[in-house]
Amino acid sequence: MEASSAKGTLENLVVVGSGPAGYTAALYAARANLNPLLITGYQDGGIPGGQLMTTTHVENFPGFPDGILGPELMDRMRSQAVRWGTRLIEADATAIDLSKRPYLVQVDGVDIDCQSLIIATGASANRLGIADEEKYWSHGISACAICDGATPQFRNEQLAVVGGGDSACEEAVYLTKYGSHVHLIVRRGSLRASKAMADRVLANPQITVHWNRSLGSLSGSDWLEQLTLLDAAGEPAETLAVRGIFYAIGHTPNTRLLKDQLPLDGKGYLITTAGSPATAKEGVFAAGDVADAQWRQAITAAASGCQAALAAERWLSENDLAITTARQPVDPVAAEQPIKTLEVTEADFDQDALWQGGSYALRRLYHESKKPLLVIYTSPDCGPCHVFKPQLRRILNELAGAAQGVEINMNEDNQIASQAGVTGTPTLQLFLNKELKQQWRGVQQRSSVKAAIEALL
Ligand code: NAP
Repeated sequence: MEASSAKGTLENLVVVGSGPAGYTAALYAARANLNPLLITGYQDGGIPGGQLMTTTHVENFPGFPDGILGPELMDRMRSQAVRWGTRLIEADATAIDLSKRPYLVQVDGVDIDCQSLIIATGASANRLGIADEEKYWSHGISACAICDGATPQFRNEQLAVVGGGDSACEEAVYLTKYGSHVHLIVRRGSLRASKAMADRVLANPQITVHWNRSLGSLSGSDWLEQLTLLDAAGEPAETLAVRGIFYAIGHTPNTRLLKDQLPLDGKGYLITTAGSPATAKEGVFAAGDVADAQWRQAITAAASGCQAALAAERWLSENDLAITTARQPVDPVAAEQPIKTLEVTEADFDQDALWQGGSYALRRLYHESKKPLLVIYTSPDCGPCHVFKPQLRRILNELAGAAQGVEINMNEDNQIASQAGVTGTPTLQLFLNKELKQQWRGVQQRSSVKAAIEALL
């Protein structure tokens, strides 16, 4: 855990979740001197930063006239919340107990007691659950075009996206950068997406929309090669020779930890008092997609996070429970800036550097380093990569030079990724003396990666 944990102390306010709702709630609570503790989540229910971490350009968040990348927007929200004094724990909440006050949140086996709680756990991507989905998962099927679009196996191949919302349309357009053609499979005769997004899809000659179609069977060898579409009556209609299918079929709210403790609606969303973020338990508030079946926008989530923080502040002071902190200095220091990895060449390669970028560094360290070597394959817009890289840098710092790391950008070094058999980002490989010791796909717990390196030392 990163923040000084609250073990043994009683927190004013714990925020669970780190999307726009969670960070905005924490920002407001921090500025109210409530010293909030925010549990970012890590793997359960998505990644820290929430759904915007797997989005490309956010063009409708006010204040960014030319749009902003989703992961960058979340970096900024996080920095702003931290700048004003929010403490973060980068781990999953594993249990929440609302049966008595103070309320209890469990994180990594540590109990945290709190007077008030803001639930901002968001929603997780849905799957279709069709036959052979498991077989082709990560071998043709993905739930994140932004993370996996640059995979070598998808280059210049036909690809498909399932869904008719903003996510599906955005992903279809994004995938035209990589695939030879994109098929958008829509189960009804119209799109749910906003008009601006729908127009972009319908005007794109590289995208074919298949109306009133659903996904039937999948086939191929090790990798997906073909899919069959079903018509509205469930009869086979067409086959498409696609090498990749991307799901964008909506989300399910992350309310598992609150089951039987707070009322949920028929789709699993938290029920709040009309026009208020208050839940059925006093001092417990909900914000963002976890309680919003209707609007689900970054801006509405941020707004509800603000409301939840103001409501929590009011509730704490009305009940004489708030313990405020004095801010020293009064004006906080400037926000932290994200670190960018530079691709090194022969001229600036450093044999001893902990972390470098590019194929030149990889070749040199692979052949010459006697230390465990971590290689992470990333793509520029990949939110999970964004989350994972600082964790890996922390591990290497903690190991104080006993191991090294290289970052490979799949967009620039596609050939190396192809040779390494990488099928999506982030992919992490651990080498020692030119031998691949372990490979991971997706964001991993820091402790498991560190243990694997330590076993080689
Ligand atoms: P969504 O709006 O809930 O759309 C889900 C889509 O998947 C719908 O078209 C739905 O069909 C389809 N679908 C659901 N289950 C399916 C199934 N089993 N088989 C086939 N199709 C299925 O989800 P989203 O696109 O992820 O968007 C979520 C929220 O984020 C929305 O409020 C959206 O506006 C927002 N968002 C905004 C942006 C942006 O503005 N840049 C980008 C992405 C998302 P039906 O239409 O028939 O229900």
